Amino acid sequence: MENCLFCKIIKGEVGCEKVYENEYILAFKDIHPVAPVHILIIPKLHISSMNDITYENSEYIKQVYIAIREVVRISCIYESGYRVICNCGEDGGQVVAHLHFHLLGGKHLGSKIVHE
Ligand code: 5GP
Ligand code: ZN
Repeated sequence: MENCLFCKIIKGEVGCEKVYENEYILAFKDIHPVAPVHILIIPKLHISSMNDITYENSEYIKQVYIAIREVVRISCIYESGYRVICNCGEDGGQVVAHLHFHLLGGKHLGSKIVHE
């Protein structure tokens, strides 16, 4: 996808603070962190959103969740805990149309997952 920001980050055309990478995924620090640990985990395949996950691309989704464990260990939040968020579409607050998972931690995140 030529105009996709996260595809450009994958290709190295836009810089990022890389945390972890393998054949399937890239994990990098969010540019506007909302917690001490705020890392985006993205598949190295352009999947626009949760709506576009299929059986055919599901290997990437499996690899995202396996990689989250690695990133959690690297970030030293394995014991303290964390939250993984995936926004989808307008009501879900998705801004970048390349599937991504926010890994948040490093502080007590509270119990609310939706603003009043
Ligand atoms: P969304 O709202 O789509 O779920 O989240 C997009 C996230 O991407 C936001 O948290 C935003 O701060 C982050 N972001 C947007 N542009 C960039 C960028 O160029 N570099 C990095 N590292 N993060 C970005
Ligand atoms: Zn993309």
